[in-house]
Amino acid sequence: MNLNPALLEILACPACRSPLHPDDAASELVCTNAACGLAFPVRDDIPVLLVDEARRPDAGASGSAGESGSDAGPTDGNSPTATDA
Ligand SMILES: [Zn+2]
Repeated sequence: MNLNPALLEILACPACRSPLHPDDAASELVCTNAACGLAFPVRDDIPVLLVDEARRPDAGASGSAGESGSDAGPTDGNSPTATDA
């Protein structure tokens, strides 16, 4: 992600007008307002500052930590796929 720093300075969250923080790893611009927290995608180094395109902080990652390990599948090594040819 290669954004012009001067561009970053004039950009603001369209939802709350707070400054945006670049997240290089995710190629996103993240709203610095904790109460807002929208993350806007950057496509071809062009920030897409549309609320409709933004990733909302409560979408998906809201604290359900115990989702693995409850489903123990039939992994005994006794798979019923033996075909005598
Ligand atoms: Zn915001």
